[in-house]
This record gives sequence, C-alpha cells and structure tokens, in this order.
Amino acid sequence: MSVADKYIDFVRQEAIEHPEKSWNKMIFGFQANKWRTRLLPKSGLSKGYQKLESMMMSLVADALAREDSYVWSNIFAPCEIMQSMGIRTLSIECLSCYLSGYHLEDQFIDYAQNAGIAPTLCSYHKTFVGGVDSGVVRQPHYAVTTSLSCDGNLNTFRYLEKKKGVPFTFLDVPYRDDEASVSYLADQLRELAEKLSETFGVRFSEEKLRETIRIENETRKELFRFFELQNTYYYPGEIISQLYLMMGTHLLIGTQEFLDLIRFMVEDIQTYPKFEGKRILWIHLLPFYQETLKKYFNGSKEYQITAGDIVIDYMEKMDPEKPFESLAKKIIRNLYNGSYSRKADMVGELADRLKPDAVIHFCHWGCKQASGGSLILKDRMKEKGIPMLILDGDGIDKRNSHDGQIKTRLEAFLELLETEEKEC
Ligand code: SF4
Repeated sequence: MSVADKYIDFVRQEAIEHPEKSWNKMIFGFQANKWRTRLLPKSGLSKGYQKLESMMMSLVADALAREDSYVWSNIFAPCEIMQSMGIRTLSIECLSCYLSGYHLEDQFIDYAQNAGIAPTLCSYHKTFVGGVDSGVVRQPHYAVTTSLSCDGNLNTFRYLEKKKGVPFTFLDVPYRDDEASVSYLADQLRELAEKLSETFGVRFSEEKLRETIRIENETRKELFRFFELQNTYYYPGEIISQLYLMMGTHLLIGTQEFLDLIRFMVEDIQTYPKFEGKRILWIHLLPFYQETLKKYFNGSKEYQITAGDIVIDYMEKMDPEKPFESLAKKIIRNLYNGSYSRKADMVGELADRLKPDAVIHFCHWGCKQASGGSLILKDRMKEKGIPMLILDGDGIDKRNSHDGQIKTRLEAFLELLETEEKEC
C-alpha cells in the first residue's frame, strides 16, 4: 500500500470516528495532492491534461483552506460574478467528487439518508449533505445556486441554510428565452453582486466583470479550436480529464489562468501524433471511477473523448458591454435549460461541428434530466447517422453502478462501430 493510500484510509477512518477533527487533515491531503500534481504529474497524460489536473487541485485545495474565500454553488452558478470580486466558486457536485477521493461517498450518502434525506435525491447532493451534516465539511459564508436543470438544488441549499446557517441566493432561471426572461434574471444577478459585496466586504466593479466576459469569449473560441484539434491529434487524457475540463468551464471560465492553459493545450496538441481511432462525444456526467470506462478511454489510441456536452454547454459569444444581460442569456440558453428536445438540437449542432464517430450518453441514477430524454437524443443522432450508446450508472455512488453491465454494453457497442467501419 502506498503512502498516499495509507493517508486516504487514515482520513476516511478519522472522518467516520471523529468527524469534527478530520477537516484539516482532509485539506492537508488536498494540498499534498496539489503539490504532487505539480511536481510529479501522471506520466501517461498529455502535458495539457497534467496542468489541468493540477489547476483544479489547486482551486479546491486553496479555496477550502480559507472559508471566507469561496462560495458553495451548483455547477451552473455564474462564477464570473464571484470571479470579478476575487471570490472562488466551488460547486457541491464537484466537491462531492473530491470527497469521494477519500472513499467517503457511501458513508456520507448513508448518513444523509439516515438523517431523513430522501433516497431519491441525487447522489452528488446526498454525498455533500452527508459530509456537511456529519460534521466533516466546514461551511463558507455564502452559497449560490440556480434552478437550472434540477429541482434538487433548491431543496439541498435550503436544507444547508436551515441546518448550518449558510445563507444563499437562489437564481430562478426562466424556461423561456425572451427579453422579459433575460431582464428578470439579469436583475437577480445584479442583486447577487450586491449581496456578495455586502457579505464579503468587497467592492463590485462592473468593469472587472466586463473584462471577465472578454476573457471568457476568448477562452470559448480557443476551446472549440482545441476540441476540433482533438479530432486530428492524439492527446492522451483520462475520463477524469473531462471532469476537470468541466470544472474549468464552470468554475474558472473568465480567468486569465484558464485561458492561458487552453491556449497552451491548443499549441501543445499539435506536437502529438495523428489520431486514427474513434472520436466520441460524451453526454452528461463522467463516472470517473468506473473500471471498464477507464480501461477503454484512459490514454487510449483507439477511442478519444473529443468533447462533452456538459463541458461546453453554452456556445455563443457574449456581449461584455451588457454583462448582466449576457450572463442571464448564457444561463437561459444553457444546453441544460428548457425542453429535452432543445437540448437534442444543441447536441446536434455540436455533433455537426465536431463530427464524432459516436455518442455515449451516461444516465446518472435518478437523474430525470439524463434518463428522461436520452431516447429523444438517440433518435436525433440516428437521423444524423451517428450511433449512440446509453449507459446507466451512477456518477459517484459505486453501489448503483454495475461494471459488468457497463462492460457488456460498451464492448458490444465498440464492436459494432468497428464492424460498421469495415462494412463501409
Ligand atoms: S446529476 Fe441530475 S439529479 Fe444530479 S444534480 Fe445534476 S441534474 Fe440534478
């Protein structure tokens, strides 16, 4: 057993037996991992994905070390507003994944359910609620969430406010995309900026927000270049690299450091050999721990995930001169807002642009957003002649994912892709 594994076991045990004493040890582990990813990056990974992993580790480790430096959020919260005020944004979905690094997800999920949380609540939320409720996870001064994509958000953040006294802003995202909806949401975003300014004692500057949006526009342009280049070049990554990219586009977009990294990746990928395998467009969440998926996608020369809809769930250029309206439009026009048919159209546009050989849709257990519309998407892809596989599992709770089933379905699908190619 390595030193790291021993430390993980030690912290896990401490979190179960003495939750109130385990937080600093957990953060120490994140800090140690931050330095490990900087000084001893994983050798099979491309340089860009190594740097990306390190950047996300730093974000989490550094933010958690200071409770007055960040807000809890859901993945769709407008990190740009926090960014422009020097406040970090940590989504509870991503934090749950980091907590699972200590193999605590089952413990926390059971804790939450025993405390009365409905078993049907999303396992990302249950993991987080259990971590907080059990006394392991310390709370920041504020939280921000949206109604986008999931009605579980309001319940979770309301519960955390009631139990732990963390006040939050709830952004009510209209379903419709029209002027009145944009202005309704833009006003809520202005109020959020005021609230954060008051809570954190930081002055809000609209000019800084404009600058954040300018950087964001540039980053999105570069990201598409990178995705397109992934069609041509082999750029070894892991399934978890897509999760890190998702963190980047949702928690760090608008920062110069993330833009610099994507620019680096655009240059770096062109130094790698040509990619001759199958290009996969991934839909929804990434079960980064799943053995079969790691086996087929980590560092693979045969199958490369070129992009994920959750990584690039908004594709338009934003107007920096009207920052609040632009952010409102970004949230309203997010691929995950509105009907599933609209989502299918947007994934179709993404597929037209990136030309994947296949689409894999991972349906997270209990997520209506994913399983509810996956067949609509499958039909849409069929019209485009793109084969699509639907995989069922759980992005975080291993007990709800059956690797054997995933293996059988994935292997049959990949075989089909190979056969189709031979027949063409
Ligand atoms: S995975 Fe689905 S259920 Fe869970 S938070 Fe996201 S949208 Fe909600």
